[in-house]
Amino acid sequence: MAGYPSLRGSLIEGKAMADLTWLRVGGPADAVVLPADEADLCAFLAALDPAVPVFPLGAGSNLIVRDGGLRAVVVRLGRAFAGVEVQGDRVIAGAAALDARVAQLAAAAGRDLTFLRTIPGTIGGAVRMNAGCYGSYVTDVLEEVRVVTRQGKVEVLPAAALDLRYRQSHLPEGAIVVSAVFRACEGDPAALQQRMEDQLARRDASQPVKDRTAGSTFRNPAGFSSTGRADDTHELKAWKLIQDAGMQGARIGGAQMSEKHANFLTNTGGATATDLESLGEEVRNRVFQTAGIWLEWEIMRVGEPAA
Ligand SMILES: Cc1cc2nc3c(=O)[nH]c(=O)nc-3n(C[C@H](O)[C@H](O)[C@H](O)COP(=O)(O)OP(=O)(O)OC[C@H]3O[C@@H](n4cnc5c(N)ncnc54)[C@H](O)[C@@H]3O)c2cc1C
Repeated sequence: MAGYPSLRGSLIEGKAMADLTWLRVGGPADAVVLPADEADLCAFLAALDPAVPVFPLGAGSNLIVRDGGLRAVVVRLGRAFAGVEVQGDRVIAGAAALDARVAQLAAAAGRDLTFLRTIPGTIGGAVRMNAGCYGSYVTDVLEEVRVVTRQGKVEVLPAAALDLRYRQSHLPEGAIVVSAVFRACEGDPAALQQRMEDQLARRDASQPVKDRTAGSTFRNPAGFSSTGRADDTHELKAWKLIQDAGMQGARIGGAQMSEKHANFLTNTGGATATDLESLGEEVRNRVFQTAGIWLEWEIMRVGEPAA
């Protein structure tokens, strides 16, 4: 392929990111690369012009890619990176493995990673975002990650090196997580299975899981006391602030704040990234006017606006 190093996997120039994201929006990426295996990925990155930005993509479940697309090489890991092995209390998962599958295979082997069951992304995205729910986070169970650096070298990093915090991590620029090792507590497989089913039912009842979304749009304002008193630890919820601002159900173009859960931004069909981002910004403005708080985006927004 002219301009890019050759590889055994595939490289598609100008691929629409809308095809690869949960929200179904996003203009073209310069190139999307699907390496055949780790050696292929290393060789490709080592030969790629160091000035070219690299963007690792998982399931695209936490992203708004803007309508002008991404001026980067997007790396998407496939089947060769999706293996899952349970060895005693260690669960070793490829970065392309879906969180739900890892939770299920771990549970079948009597290991508890049940919190991953309802998160629709991949292990790579879960590490990068320190994904979590129902009180458990990746940081609680992650032991180490294997990454391929932007220069094409393999490195193994202990979890502590990633400085995992609420929905964030510090991975070296352009580094791609290729696998992760978790240490998981023991549990009865039937009880773990039951817990996952209960969590799925809870999720279905409260969130628009069948719609095109990217999960929670804004973070809950952390550490904010509703009364300002030091002894009041009540945390404000983003969904409640959005409801109080009268923005649940609000629309711009094909974008809507979900009627089922006020903190979910949905593509009702035909939304552009601009519709979604503009609605999110309108929500932030209205919440600031009513509650004096600027909500912070939890969804990552990347790429260029439409020309
Ligand atoms: C219905 C719904 C419910 C959700 N519920 C939750 C929830 O309960 N808890 C929660 O934490 N999140 C939730 N999310 C958000 C999302 O699923 C998580 O953030 C998830 O971890 C993102 O994984 P992904 O593979 O889709 O990553 P992407 O959205 O593809 O990417 C997210 C970030 O991770 C980086 N990344 C992806 N793969 C790699 C890799 N291999 N190496 C390095 N970086 C990588 C990307 O560059 C990007 O910066 C939800 C989303 C939806 C749509």
